Amino acid sequence: MELETQKNHSLNDFELLKVIGKGRFGKVLLVKKKISGELFAMKILKKKYIEECRQIEHTRTERKILARVDHPYIVKFYYAFQSNERLYFILEYCSGGELFFHLNRARRFDEERVKFYSACLVLAIEHLHSKNIIYRDLKPENVLIDEDGFPKITDFGLSKEDCKDPRSARSFCGTAEYLAPEVIIKQGYGKVVDWWSLGCIIYEMLVGLPPFYNENKKYVYMKILSEDPHLPDFLSSAVKSLLSGLLNKDPNRRLGAEGADEIKRNPWFFDIDWVALEAKSIMPPFIPNISDPANSRYFSEEFTNSAMSSASPNQLSPRACSPTYDGFSYSSSPIEPRCAFDTEFTIRGEVGQSVV
Ligand code: AMP
Repeated sequence: MELETQKNHSLNDFELLKVIGKGRFGKVLLVKKKISGELFAMKILKKKYIEECRQIEHTRTERKILARVDHPYIVKFYYAFQSNERLYFILEYCSGGELFFHLNRARRFDEERVKFYSACLVLAIEHLHSKNIIYRDLKPENVLIDEDGFPKITDFGLSKEDCKDPRSARSFCGTAEYLAPEVIIKQGYGKVVDWWSLGCIIYEMLVGLPPFYNENKKYVYMKILSEDPHLPDFLSSAVKSLLSGLLNKDPNRRLGAEGADEIKRNPWFFDIDWVALEAKSIMPPFIPNISDPANSRYFSEEFTNSAMSSASPNQLSPRACSPTYDGFSYSSSPIEPRCAFDTEFTIRGEVGQSVV
């Protein structure tokens, strides 16, 4: 596999501290740069595994998008390098762990906390859309919390570029519970699928489960296509109106179809100072309690206790799932981590092409 590399960087520059996460095609380590002592997240992808799974195109896109975007609520990418067998992405380390971790512990957040995270996500998605990128996999597992408590989107493995047209994307991919109806009916879709997923994640943070949840994926799809979300009485009328707008099954009439400003103007966000938020000058509602930056208390022990040299992601953890939509069993926790999938998995990508 031919790769564009940063020749002046290598694995030897880093001290490998621990495993902090597993993705579909690799693992993520907390590492320390030997020369400066700075901490980073190192995403490692096995070339052979990417080739076998025909994910070269997705990996190349992820690398390209990470390098193109620069936003306070998107995880910062520094550079990539490679060895004969592996690709390495060096990313900003978000020591607060996944939003999923916190939601799973708290079960639900209050509206103010949800509003803060949601407003940051609106800005992040607006930034991606301004570059004609559809994110396509917004869910609590893909939102990380940095050391100051700000949320950041990570994992661009399913994102798509050049999506100006509202029907420019066709592939059936994402995570079942967050898929917009137009993705399921496979008639082409555009950026507004991200606003649908935003509605799902806001609902989940407030209620404790995604709006169209079912253990059986077939029923998830049926509910997405045919049921209105149940909006419990404890939700304010303002957030109910926002959710009804974002979860409009008609992409042309969905809140956000005219752009992010439409969402920002919704009454639920009336007290958000968007300029101050973009400048990160609003205090987050929760600040991770970390005295030692290398402490990984907000990461699941199943990762932090696992060996750094294990073979493929699937062998490492029940959460590191293969990209099918059969899901996987994890624990008896109220919300299980959801697995992203891409049905083009078996037909896409050409082995032997350049990746990064
Ligand atoms: P990914 O393969 O990008 O989905 O990453 C898998 C998991 O690794 C994430 O869900 C996080 O738990 C963890 N992770 C990824 N990137 C970072 C980061 N920059 N900082 C902290 N943890 C991360």
